[in-house]
Amino acid sequence: MTAKRVAIVGGGWAGLAAAVKASQLGYQVTLFEMAQHLGGRARSLGAPDAGPRLDNGQHILIGAYQASLSLLEAVGVDLKQGFLRQPLRLRYPRHEGLCLPPGPALISFVRGILAYRAWPLAARLSLLLTATGWLLRRFECAPMLNVAALSAGLPAIVRQELIEPLCVAALNTPADQASAQVFLRVLRDALFSGRGSADLLLPKLPLSALLAEPAATWLSARGVKIHLNTRVQALTQCPAGWSVDGQAFEQVILACTSAQAAILCAEIAPAWASQAGALQYQPIMTVYLRSAGSQLPAAMVALQESAEAPAQFAFDLGQLGHDPGLFAFVISGAANWVERGLAASGEATLQQALAQFTWHNPPQIHRVLAEKRATFACIPGLQRPPTSIKPGLWAAGDYVDGPYPATLEGAVRAGFNAAANLPPI
Ligand SMILES: Cc1cc2nc3c(=O)[nH]c(=O)nc-3n(C[C@H](O)[C@H](O)[C@H](O)COP(=O)(O)OP(=O)(O)OC[C@H]3O[C@@H](n4cnc5c(N)ncnc54)[C@H](O)[C@@H]3O)c2cc1C
Repeated sequence: MTAKRVAIVGGGWAGLAAAVKASQLGYQVTLFEMAQHLGGRARSLGAPDAGPRLDNGQHILIGAYQASLSLLEAVGVDLKQGFLRQPLRLRYPRHEGLCLPPGPALISFVRGILAYRAWPLAARLSLLLTATGWLLRRFECAPMLNVAALSAGLPAIVRQELIEPLCVAALNTPADQASAQVFLRVLRDALFSGRGSADLLLPKLPLSALLAEPAATWLSARGVKIHLNTRVQALTQCPAGWSVDGQAFEQVILACTSAQAAILCAEIAPAWASQAGALQYQPIMTVYLRSAGSQLPAAMVALQESAEAPAQFAFDLGQLGHDPGLFAFVISGAANWVERGLAASGEATLQQALAQFTWHNPPQIHRVLAEKRATFACIPGLQRPPTSIKPGLWAAGDYVDGPYPATLEGAVRAGFNAAANLPPI
């Protein structure tokens, strides 16, 4: 029996997850990636041997991201080497914020809130009461509700110091526009997926060294053909199943971006294509600063954002095993700042950094990056396209219908799910 052939179009985390799973199922896998490197939106810039590597944006995972962690382990990544894992901790530049003690996630949530004396007791009790209400309603809510409306009854300090930073970090969408249902789902998984599910996992390796490179080695060793610099232009039906730029495959998984998938499917599945093509996107900017000899008070620090202070989080890459003296400031939901431009956003972030931290040497802008289509806008009532497009044609990607916002976990789950739908060999 020859293995059946599956083409995977796109080598981001969804495509790599699909390729690993399809190969484990015995499929003969061919992966097409239009860029020079695998990794998609979670990749490092530049070649591995060209000095310290910057990522296209700082990524964080949480302990509940089981699919992502199992993918990394499947391709041989040692999670202890790959991540700094710590209980959820919102450290601010000049004071300790909310910090959950180790232990079962729900218990540590209650203990952490009760112990957080920076909030008045009434605010802590109000949060616990509200969270109990979410729990009793099984973390479900009306589909059209946004996060600001969901949390409107909470004290302002809880919304500003907890709900809004978590919302923008997890959904990359401001609370007044973000889907409350998706937000509650992330909270549910963080609090109920067992011990450590709310932990933060901060990559200690450049993103490409974390997944793309070990996955490429793992896949190549199993005979997977990887074609880089190859943009798939045409997808048509053929007697074997599907023709991808003239090559025949029994099955195809489209793991490219929603916009590219919409173009490839415009004629073969117009309704699916128009749903995929209608998704709106939110940008993320990353401002890298350099300051020799300086350190932040923690590897990850939450910041007070304002009209003139763009960043919500800062990362000390020296404390994450990269380059001492290098810092990544992250601007999520960055539409307004993208409009102002790279130079103005970099300068505003530099001023924010000077105002909020003490530096050993004055920081300087090292690089400003803008990913204009970083994540789909996770708005209430969003209709996302399903994984099944046509018989033998599947979609994988963080945007495919599922419970998660645009995250690595959403991408990996979609990739695993598409491969699990392939007929058994
Ligand atoms: C700056 C930034 C910060 C982020 N922070 C976080 C975070 O902290 N935590 C988190 O969980 N998530 C985060 N995300 C989101 C996360 O990166 C994405 O959800 C995830 O990488 C999406 O993976 P994907 O495989 O679905 O899509 P992609 O990574 O976009 O992969 C699609 C791939 O398809 C390729 N492709 C497109 N068209 C074709 C074609 N025609 N032929 C061949 N190849 C094609 C593309 O080149 C690309 O490699 C962040 C994203 C950005 C940009």
